[in-house]
Amino acid sequence: MIIQLDPAISEEAKAKITDTLGQLKFKGTEVKTQIGDYLVCIGKTNIDIRQLGFLPGIIDIHKVSDDYKLVSRKWKVNSTKIDLGDGVVIGDGSFSIMAGPCSIEGEENVRATIKHLKENGVNIMRGGVFKPRSSPYSFRGMGIDGLKMWYNIAREEGIKIVTEVMQVSQIEEMYPYVDVFQVGARNTQNFNLLDELGKVDKAVMIKRGISGTIEELLYSAEYVFSGGNEKLILCERGIRTYEKASRNTLDLNAVPILKDKTHLPVVVDPSHGIGIRDYVDSMSLAAVMAGADGVIFEIHPLPEKAASDGQQTLDFQQSAALIRKMKKTYALREEFEMVV
Ligand code: PEP
Ligand code: MN
Repeated sequence: MIIQLDPAISEEAKAKITDTLGQLKFKGTEVKTQIGDYLVCIGKTNIDIRQLGFLPGIIDIHKVSDDYKLVSRKWKVNSTKIDLGDGVVIGDGSFSIMAGPCSIEGEENVRATIKHLKENGVNIMRGGVFKPRSSPYSFRGMGIDGLKMWYNIAREEGIKIVTEVMQVSQIEEMYPYVDVFQVGARNTQNFNLLDELGKVDKAVMIKRGISGTIEELLYSAEYVFSGGNEKLILCERGIRTYEKASRNTLDLNAVPILKDKTHLPVVVDPSHGIGIRDYVDSMSLAAVMAGADGVIFEIHPLPEKAASDGQQTLDFQQSAALIRKMKKTYALREEFEMVV
């Protein structure tokens, strides 16, 4: 059950609600976000919300049977929109395209990528400056200086930045230069990181864990939300299965399931999902038709020379063709939705 509190509620009224909850064998945890003040209530008994509804200081009460609460669509029926400013919104019913290199490699690469994105009507760029690599000897990113360089160019050009934060200590130094903090698949259940991102008033995109279930992804989002940050995006990026023909198994089942279970926007990363350049195209179009709010994919002027993940990276020509096809596919999806 979620009780939305009046932001002007008195301590006395709050105590009265907590007392009544106690009598009904419910425990309330207060959650204050950028948008609202809530009591997330957990209890074993079936409750008649009229036993609470009359108490002063309550705006509304919803029963939420899911174990995750604040991210559940049973609580919030309307889809959440993530406003990145300057008219860039994710989850508003439009289709968001985000692309960029796996790793930020230098000014020339950033400028070329931004030029390509702008020519193709894309205003969100992805890129890593802190890279989680399987081998400690691989390129591990340009770090904070790379992020500052990228930010300066991106701001000049009106491009938003999505980049991975790997640990709590990086949040503060990255904060001024980031539009969306990405939580990588290896960190989906780094609960300390999720707690800290709850205190941040910037969007957070959480990737599904390498062997994570859909429910675990929702719980990870619940951590950030209950920490105070409602600006959340979920990302299906493939899971590890017994299949060896692809890098991961892109679980497109997750898209309609997540769209049903949560009010948060859902995007798909087909690059890591399948891991093979030639098939990124098909899986992106499938993601559009599965109902995703957007796609995030890897591009590079010369993929064979990319510092990381070249094998799954598109060149600009392939990227432009994919963007055109995704826009057409999305128009078709809208047509289908109108017919239904
Ligand atoms: C990435 O986006 O480059 C990345 C490392 O993704 P993931 O965490 O999904 O592996
Ligand atoms: Mn990558």
